[in-house]
Amino acid sequence: MPTPPLAGGTAGPAALRPLLDTVLTALEQGATRRGGPLPAGGPDNATSRMRTAGPLIPDTGTGAENALRTLVTALTEGAADPAHPHCAAHLHTPPLALAAAADLAASALNPSMDSWDQAPAASALEADLTAALATEIYPHATTPDAVITTGGTEANQLALLLARERHGPVQTICAANTHHSITRATWLLGLPAPVVVPAPTGVMDLTALAEALTRHQHPLLVTATAGTTDTGQIDPLDAVADLCATHGAELHIDAAYGGPLLFSPTHQHTLHGLDRAQSVTLDLHKLGWQPAPASLLAVPDHHHLDPLHHHAPYLNADDDTEAGLPDLLGRSLRTTRRPDALKIAVTLQALGRTGLADLIDRTLATAHQLADLITQHPTLDLYQRPTISTVLFRPTGATDHTVATIRRTLLNRGHAVLGRAEAKGHRWLKATLLNPHTTPHDLHTLINHVTTVTDDLTEGSTPR
Ligand SMILES: *Cc1c(COP(=O)(O)O)cnc(C)c1O
Repeated sequence: MPTPPLAGGTAGPAALRPLLDTVLTALEQGATRRGGPLPAGGPDNATSRMRTAGPLIPDTGTGAENALRTLVTALTEGAADPAHPHCAAHLHTPPLALAAAADLAASALNPSMDSWDQAPAASALEADLTAALATEIYPHATTPDAVITTGGTEANQLALLLARERHGPVQTICAANTHHSITRATWLLGLPAPVVVPAPTGVMDLTALAEALTRHQHPLLVTATAGTTDTGQIDPLDAVADLCATHGAELHIDAAYGGPLLFSPTHQHTLHGLDRAQSVTLDLHKLGWQPAPASLLAVPDHHHLDPLHHHAPYLNADDDTEAGLPDLLGRSLRTTRRPDALKIAVTLQALGRTGLADLIDRTLATAHQLADLITQHPTLDLYQRPTISTVLFRPTGATDHTVATIRRTLLNRGHAVLGRAEAKGHRWLKATLLNPHTTPHDLHTLINHVTTVTDDLTEGSTPR
C-alpha cells in the first residue's frame, strides 16, 4: 500500500477532496437510511448494525475509500442527529455547516495551542477571540480575558481551581438546581463538598442563600446558574451578586447554556448581573451551534488566570519568552490542544451580531411555540413558560413510570429524542430546543408522537 497522503501542505487539499466527497456521500446516505432522529430498535439494534461494519483492526487494511464509506455510513445511520427537529434532548446542538467546515481546516492543519511554534496564527486568533468574547461578558472591565475549554464541566473545574488558588480551600455554596459538574469539581480539587441551598421554584432561593452565607465560614464561593439543566431557568444573578458582595463571598456563574443570550438585544436583559461574577462559564456547543468542544471560562481581570501559568522549558523556555514568543502553556491545563477558536471565529464573523441574535431569538421563539401547543393540548400539561429553550411537559395524570416509559418508547421507535427532568415532585419530558430550522409542523408531529405513544401505553397495547 502506498504511504497515505497527508491532509496539510500544498498537496493535502487535493488528497482530501475525493475523500471528502466519500464522507459527504456517506453522511447523506446514512441520514436517508436512518430517516429519523435516531435509529429505531434501541441499543441492541444500533450496536449490532455498527458491528456489521467489519473488523476494526484487520490485518490488511481495506483502504481509505472503503473504510470511510463503511464506517461513516454506519455511524450516520446509527446517529442521534441533532439536525433532526425531533432530536431535542441534552442541549445537544446541531452544528452549523460553516462551523463544521472550519473545523475541517483545524484538523488538516492541526495547530496545537500549547506553544507558539506549533500555532503561530492560531495563537493570535485565539488570543484575540478570547479577549473579544471576554469583553462581551465583562464590558466594563479593563483587562477581561478567557480561556478555551472542552466544555462547561472543565470551565467550572477551572473556576473552582482559580478560587482555591486565590483564597485557599473555599467552601462552595450552590443550589439544588446546580449542574453536577460543580460537585464533581469540589471532589476533584479536594475542596469541601458544596453547601446546597434549595431551589423550590427552580432558581436559587435568596433567603436560604443569605442564611448559608451567614452560617458558613470564609472563604466562600457561590456558584449560580444561568440556564439550569432541568428547566433552563436563570438564577436571580444580580440579587445573588448583591448577597455575595454583602457577605464578602466570591461568585462564579455557570452560564454554559444561557450565556450566549448576551448576543441577543431582545434577551440579554435576562443575564443582568452576569458581569459581577469573578468567573463565568459559557458553552458555544449549545446556543452557539458549534461542533463540540467550544467552551470558555471568562474572568474580569487577566491576572485571575495567573495560577494556570506553567513552565516546561521545551515549550516556553524563558529566553524564548524574553525574545517575544508568546507563552501559551498557561492558557489551559491541557498540553496538546485543538484550535477551537477557529470554528467559533468563523461563525461569529460569518453571522455577525445580528445573525447570531437572529438564531438565538428564533430558537427561543420556537420553544414558546411548543409551549403554546402543549398549553392548547387537552391531554398535556406544561411545567411553565420557557425561560430559554427548555420545555417540560407531561401527559395529564400520567405516572412518573409512564413518563419514563414514553421517553424510552420514543427512543426505541426511532421517533424522538427527548430528555427527562424531575421538578415540582413529578417527572417530566424535557425538550431542549436548539434547532433554528424547526418549524411549527415539526412541533406538531413531535406532540403527535408523544400522544400516540401515551395512548398505546395507557391502552395496554405492546409498545413497538
Ligand atoms: C452543559 C452544561 C454544563 C456542562 O457542560 P459540558 O459542556 O457538557 O461539559 C455545565 N453547566 C451547565 C449549566 C450546562 O448547561
